[in-house]
Amino acid sequence: MHHDLIDGVPVIWTETPGPLEATLMFGCGLQDETFRTLGVTHLVEHLAMSTLPRLHFEHNASVSLTLTDFTCTGRPEQVVDFLARVCTALTDLPLERIEKEAGVLAAEGSGAADPVTAELLSIRYGTQGLGLASFNGPGADRIPQDAVRDTVARHFHAGNAVLALTGPPPQDLRLPLAPGPRTTRTPHPAARTTRSSWHRADVPGPGLLFSCDLNDQTMLLAAHVLSQRLTDTVRHEHGLSYDVGGSAVFVGPGRGERSIQLDVREGQEKRVAELLWQEALRLATEEPTEAELAEEREGAREFLTDPRTADLEVAERAADLLLGETHLDAQTKLALQAEVTPAQVREAFAAAMETALLLVPCEVEQLLLARPDGSALPAGGCSERSSLPAGSQYRPPLLARARSGAARKVRLVVNADGAWWQDEEGRIHGFPYTEVVGVEVHEAGRILQGLGNCFVPVAPELFSGLGPAIATIDAAVPEALRYPVSALRATG
Ligand SMILES: [Zn+2]
Repeated sequence: MHHDLIDGVPVIWTETPGPLEATLMFGCGLQDETFRTLGVTHLVEHLAMSTLPRLHFEHNASVSLTLTDFTCTGRPEQVVDFLARVCTALTDLPLERIEKEAGVLAAEGSGAADPVTAELLSIRYGTQGLGLASFNGPGADRIPQDAVRDTVARHFHAGNAVLALTGPPPQDLRLPLAPGPRTTRTPHPAARTTRSSWHRADVPGPGLLFSCDLNDQTMLLAAHVLSQRLTDTVRHEHGLSYDVGGSAVFVGPGRGERSIQLDVREGQEKRVAELLWQEALRLATEEPTEAELAEEREGAREFLTDPRTADLEVAERAADLLLGETHLDAQTKLALQAEVTPAQVREAFAAAMETALLLVPCEVEQLLLARPDGSALPAGGCSERSSLPAGSQYRPPLLARARSGAARKVRLVVNADGAWWQDEEGRIHGFPYTEVVGVEVHEAGRILQGLGNCFVPVAPELFSGLGPAIATIDAAVPEALRYPVSALRATG
């Protein structure tokens, strides 16, 4: 592995067969946005790429939770040309194209994480940082121009970039980015839901999220053993599912989240969620066998020593450098894995289970599960409150109340401190104005989004006589957080 510095940008490269692959990486992604500016990094990426002429070699760009990548594969002179064009574009973005690119963005969607992991991250962190993964935000056409400029200035400069190459840097390679100090990353916001609990959301299948150090090879083996057991039981034994997936999400140096999710045959959501939890419990209470560990070590060895994964190794090294994470090379990982005992796997996984969030599709109404210590696994909710606070109350329109018993339960309270509502199932949602991250302005309503993965629909379809409520909200929430409903949304 070689290190160079070109125009202030660290360049990491290794020699591999095949054409030259380049990844220009910036240490910013979805997690660096806010609800109000959601999608701004993706918009910057699109604006930069929109300046490229038609190129006859492979090239692409993407925004993940933590990184923005510009990639290309080709002859050295093509790589030189692509990188120079991207860097130049980033120093002088065609802001006049914002509107057009916003439309493209809306059509493309975000997808920085799979839907189950995205929901789990939102439950863990709320409507901020990595928790933004499940949200669409105000819409690409509501991203303020200032946010675009600010994002470029803060993140897209030489001090926040690394270039990964699968061959030596070509002689005339230039990275003409704006200069910038080496970025020190602000710590990710603390988790809002830290203790194990189960949650419902509109997701295709159940999933599990647990906190751990992503470099911890004991936890890596534990996650692989769990995936394998789920494949054996849920798929092969019961035939309820055909895919067990997993993600690793970087939170900060030494901090991460791992998720495991299963797709599910219709009608089997509850059964699969129970099997997922059961298998997780079993790994937290009983040691895996030595044979199971040997199997997973062997799988890791195959992957890590395959010459075809050399480009992944360069990219991972570059990402670790940008994010301030300790980098473990393949040999170190394998040496650490060789030392891991079955007792350590059980112990490490039991500790991680303290933080486990279980997510199930909305079809599952009730789950009676236990934590490893035998206590009941509680259902998660978005408000600590069990009843509405005092204040002006709003009720559904008379006709809705007459038609449905559920509507008779629904209430909205808007007072000087915040907004809360009770839904048809009697659960309380809401938050003080200090936790508002965005207010979508409709002609006769307001949708308030709160920091804790929760919203309050101050909507005339649901409540009548909202005039005073809207006046109170508009006076209490800063104008910068209010925006007209996106014109790109199919339903207003
Ligand atoms: Zn809520």
